[in-house]
Amino acid sequence: MRTALVTGASRGIGKAIASELAAGGWKILAPSRAELDLLAPESVERFCAGIRGAAAVDALINNAGINMLNLVTDLQDDDWAAMLQVNVTAPRKLIQAVAGGMTSRHWGRIVNISSVFGIVSRAGRAAYSTTKAAINGFTRTAAIELGPEGILVNAVCPGYVETDLTYINNSPADIDAIKQTIPLRRLAAPNEIARLVAFLCSDANTYLTGQTVIADGGFTCL
Ligand code: NAP
Repeated sequence: MRTALVTGASRGIGKAIASELAAGGWKILAPSRAELDLLAPESVERFCAGIRGAAAVDALINNAGINMLNLVTDLQDDDWAAMLQVNVTAPRKLIQAVAGGMTSRHWGRIVNISSVFGIVSRAGRAAYSTTKAAINGFTRTAAIELGPEGILVNAVCPGYVETDLTYINNSPADIDAIKQTIPLRRLAAPNEIARLVAFLCSDANTYLTGQTVIADGGFTCL
């Protein structure tokens, strides 16, 4: 049985990914915030040391992410640092922690949950867009370096998904307006993103690596 490590699996997209992979026969490692706080560098170091020394992780899904809105002129250093830490630095550390084991087994799948706001943007999303564009770039380089080791690395860029994050950052009126900008006229359900992630982690994915796969109901086509 293969093992997948999913961050942020307590709710939203991460919970759906963990369920989808479990249904497909994967053993799931879903650390709680107490076991792995991505915002706390010492917690990340401790968790990574444990992974290196013990569990075989065949797939890593860097899903957890945060998005505090602020206009460019009002950006705060602490929000900026927190978003870089959770959305970029911690995923990088986890990739470094699992890559050795994947290399030794010559099989691995890494999926970074990015966002359409790593491709396009919207007012208030400067820090978030910076982090998601960064993880897209990291994904490409990791795919180049780890491909010869049998490790496929991709980013998934969801559009608007029905999760707490979306409802915290958009009013009901915003969401009604957003639906009109999406060709499919609705938000994604978390399991629609999870199914894509499960494919990217599977043996059926043999040749797709280094990509930023956009799952947005056509939002970025307009
Ligand atoms: P969510 O509903 O807000 O859930 C966030 C998850 O991340 C929770 O499990 C949360 O754990 C975990 N998390 C947050 N900070 C953490 C920390 N410091 N340490 C460990 N875990 C932490 O988010 P979501 O909407 O499912 O988003 C998941 C990913 O998809 C994120 O990377 C987000 O940027 C991306 N995304 C979302 C959307 C969308 O429309 N929702 C669109 C594009 C991309 P706790 O339960 O402990 O707080």
